[in-house]
Amino acid sequence: MLEIYNSLSRYKETFKPLHEGHVGMYVCGPTVYGDAHLGHARPAITFDLLYRYLMHLGYKVRYVRNITDVGHLEHDADEGEDKIAKKARLEQLEPMEVVQFYTNRYHRDMAALNVLPPSIEPHASGHIIEQIAFVQKILDKGYAYVSNGSVYMDVEKYAKDFPYGKLSGRNLNDIVTETRELDGQDEKKHSYDFALWKKAAPEHIMHWPSPWSEGFPGWHMECSTMGTKYLGERFDIHGGGLDLIFPHHEAEIAQSCAALGHETVHYWMHNNMITIAGKKMGKSYNNFITLEQFFSGNHPLLSKPFGPMVIRFFILQAHYRSTVDFSSDALEAAEKGLQRMQEAYARLQKLQPIANSQQPIAELVTSLRARCQEAMDDDLNTPFVIAALFDSTRAINTVWDGKGTISEADLKELREVWKTYAIDILGLRLEADDNANANAKAFSGAIDLLLGIRLQAKQNKDWATSDKIRNELTALGFQIKDTKDGFEWSI
Ligand code: ZN
Repeated sequence: MLEIYNSLSRYKETFKPLHEGHVGMYVCGPTVYGDAHLGHARPAITFDLLYRYLMHLGYKVRYVRNITDVGHLEHDADEGEDKIAKKARLEQLEPMEVVQFYTNRYHRDMAALNVLPPSIEPHASGHIIEQIAFVQKILDKGYAYVSNGSVYMDVEKYAKDFPYGKLSGRNLNDIVTETRELDGQDEKKHSYDFALWKKAAPEHIMHWPSPWSEGFPGWHMECSTMGTKYLGERFDIHGGGLDLIFPHHEAEIAQSCAALGHETVHYWMHNNMITIAGKKMGKSYNNFITLEQFFSGNHPLLSKPFGPMVIRFFILQAHYRSTVDFSSDALEAAEKGLQRMQEAYARLQKLQPIANSQQPIAELVTSLRARCQEAMDDDLNTPFVIAALFDSTRAINTVWDGKGTISEADLKELREVWKTYAIDILGLRLEADDNANANAKAFSGAIDLLLGIRLQAKQNKDWATSDKIRNELTALGFQIKDTKDGFEWSI
């Protein structure tokens, strides 16, 4: 039975879907005003893992992951300039050009990480009408007020009827002392009230008509609206990063309870954060590494490029509720671990069965599937799944080295468990790199061969052949340098 930790009850609970055989799952997606970084990779991979495991268990899953393209403001999420609008102003682009550009790049990076696309990927800007209707519902129930064209949640009134702060464990007093004093706060009755709808300032370029003003929705509103639109008024799982618990998810609970009179989400799940040398990632720390920079190695904190599967493996080596501290050394260790798995996987495909399985091979194979499933059922314990697979590499290598035998049935079982857990559930591409390496090796071997022929031709004073090879390779984009030992080439 799958057990997952529910951030709301703070216990591991046995997962039981609201509708037999079906799971509705909503995960807060990116605000698309810049390239995805390691902090985006972790929730994407964590909930991709959950999505894959639920499908493996036979559920039909509707997975909704949104794109935030309006309403996420710079300070405390609902004060200051809109993040997309700011980027558009700085780059002199139409805001939707910014959104499309970074959404495309996000999709490219997620595909590289082997993150499956969600079933539905709604945009906040495509659901303005629904968000206005949701705000109106909260106003009608008396838990919000209009002030100078903006609509705010009346947190004090709400907290009299519902427990506000139960997800984050905060109470109103904590929240009062945490809330920063900012301009425009005089519109609010209390500093902890948050915007459901904001009147657009004259310079604000993204705005829509509403009953209250020409403006735009508050950031938290999109997830309450789109979650219930696509998954119903009660759905199974809502996920996101730990940093979203307050204010974002707390505000979502308040909005949904205020509008509908009840909770919408059954299980709240949060992945922990990634730190870099013990520090939170952020532009102000100058330790912001985008996924593209990881893949190219183009960042001062990186010793070399790291492929997307190394990043995925690095993230899965930790349990999703533990912190992960990034360093180039840690990634190099993950790369070695992944290479061991790739090697074992390649050998596994080539092994030949003989007679019976010897001990301890038989025992390793018999227990492997159960160990992997128990680990996944225990709140997605991926480090244990990886450890079990590593243990089975001992069996693979023993047979490979001719120091043990494996039966046909055990070999079949071993291949199936690796396919199910390493490839389908952990989502590791184990053979892709093998092929890429083989291609790269064959390619550079062929160029070396050609340049070797040219060297021979030069020594024989066959200038026609040597010039032909040099000129045609140059025309194809190669740079060829003659050295005293022979030649060097690059592209
Ligand atoms: Zn959200």
